Amino acid sequence: MARRSQGIIITDKYQMRTWARSMRHNSIALVPTMGFLHDGHLSLIQEAHNHAQLVVVSIYVNPSQFAPSEDLSTYPSDFDADIRKLMTVPGGVDVIFHPHNLYDYGVESAMDCAGMANVSCLEESGSGHETWVRVERLEKGMCGRSRPVFFRGVATVVAKLFNIVDPDVALFGKKDYQQWRIIDRMVRDLDFPVKIVGFEIVRDADGLAMSSRNVRLSPIERQKALSINRSL
Ligand code: AMP
Repeated sequence: MARRSQGIIITDKYQMRTWARSMRHNSIALVPTMGFLHDGHLSLIQEAHNHAQLVVVSIYVNPSQFAPSEDLSTYPSDFDADIRKLMTVPGGVDVIFHPHNLYDYGVESAMDCAGMANVSCLEESGSGHETWVRVERLEKGMCGRSRPVFFRGVATVVAKLFNIVDPDVALFGKKDYQQWRIIDRMVRDLDFPVKIVGFEIVRDADGLAMSSRNVRLSPIERQKALSINRSL
């Protein structure tokens, strides 16, 4: 199938699944993102073309991986700019999957999690979602210590994306090393028919790993952040 330089935007998970099924004679690579794309994302997306015939990029800020005390409501986003950036990727992308809400089941919930420890923004909102994927040992250390619901939310949303897009391969940045290892373990343990590819860290000229949240760093904080890379 010929590559399109700009893909179609799908916002409905049922349409996404229908598209994926209609393309089943091609291999599909999925690159899950939360948007506010930078060159690290774009390199990862370009790499996806080396692993499959079709490339799907998801842009979704996943509420289940944010605790109520975290920055869900202020997480940076600029969908129009993301589209423009995606159009610069050599080979383009075939689908931009941009669901508005992956947890809207039209269910009324009596859940009230306000003030409870170890709940996500999703539970606090009482969406009615109550099934979680946990990679029990790997989620506990490193970032998991300070963010107790983070990896549970990541593993769950990635499992949902795999069920919706049914990719042959999915790519994750080693910048989020623990996340990459957790997804790899989830795929092995739950027999998802998906190959997980880890991609090298893309850095700015000063050595800082590119990240959507870097826009929030003051010059002093940026210098402090650089000490992590330098000490490594
Ligand atoms: P995010 O939008 O931050 O959830 O990131 C989406 C994907 O892009 C994840 O697999 C990240 O690990 C990956 N990624 C983000 N920044 C970089 C980077 N600087 N280098 C390589 N991969 C990255």
